[in-house]
Amino acid sequence: MLARETTPSAIVRYLDQYVVGQDEAKKILAVAVYSHYRKIATFANDQGAIVKSNVLLVGPSGTGKTLLCDTLSRMLGVPFVTADATSLAQTKYVNEEIEAALLRLLDRADGNVEKAQHGIIFIDEIDKLKATGGESRAISGESVQHALLKIMEGSSVKLRDDRYLDTSNILFICGGAFVGLENIMSRTHGFGFIATSSDDNRNILDRLNKRVKPTDLFEFGLIPEFTGRLPVVATLHSLTRAMLVSIMSVPKNSIYRQYIEIFRGEGVELSIEQRVFEQIAEIAIEYKTGARSLRGIFEELITPILYVVPDRPEICKVEIHSLFEDARFFRRK
Ligand code: ADP
Repeated sequence: MLARETTPSAIVRYLDQYVVGQDEAKKILAVAVYSHYRKIATFANDQGAIVKSNVLLVGPSGTGKTLLCDTLSRMLGVPFVTADATSLAQTKYVNEEIEAALLRLLDRADGNVEKAQHGIIFIDEIDKLKATGGESRAISGESVQHALLKIMEGSSVKLRDDRYLDTSNILFICGGAFVGLENIMSRTHGFGFIATSSDDNRNILDRLNKRVKPTDLFEFGLIPEFTGRLPVVATLHSLTRAMLVSIMSVPKNSIYRQYIEIFRGEGVELSIEQRVFEQIAEIAIEYKTGARSLRGIFEELITPILYVVPDRPEICKVEIHSLFEDARFFRRK
């Protein structure tokens, strides 16, 4: 599962190929994942010795939380599924929903229980479990946390097909936007730590001061037992225009590279100017959904072109210079 050469820095280098920016979160996640799988290997015969460090990813929607977890699981070759805390809170049968997620994990592991038990589960929107007016929601938000706690701590869950899945070694990563967390932190942090003499101490104290504290999460309706289960917190930042531009063209599987390949399959060279990506990024920023809207806008641009190109074998090259100008087609000589 975790080869000798898979050090935290190797994990970060792998993530760098697919995820733009978020350097701090990559490092924290890499160390968490590394120690998680090392612990499993080291204490394979003494399961009780493992204290799991599940991870909380804090950051606006569409900034790469799911992508990071997905990419990690691909690198490690472990199965991965996502669940959504909001929908867990909306159902009467939380435990059944959780079981369904575990069953999906087993599916991703091709039915191999052992493999599923080393998988990764990402639970998004963990910040939405707070009471919103009606009491019933408050109760269900809290009961969702209790249900999640149980599997995060490790329990043997009976699945619909009568098989059991032990969740002790599954790595749980929770995510949420936690809007307003910075204000809460600026209110609650920075006291208690007075300037110290040594630089080293200063460093760790600075880091501790910047750290999200479990108590900061109480305002979002998270209960102490639950935040206590998420000792590792990594923060993802809003994507800048330059990062959005990179996302479309730099990663190994970026949307631009994908379309270059599709056009190449038709014997056509696709060339899109940097300016076009900047224009798309500008629109995506207006939409305020992080990188989520990039694909949609890009496909708006490319669809009419891809509609005609396969019927016209004389075309050998397509150039796009601006989102607001027609594409230029070049014929074979
Ligand atoms: P969330 O933070 O809400 O989980 P996702 O990881 O699902 O966001 O991101 C949505 C999509 O946006 C991804 O599939 C990916 O294509 C793109 N994306 C978001 N952030 C990044 C990033 N930092 N680097 C590369 N692509 C990204």
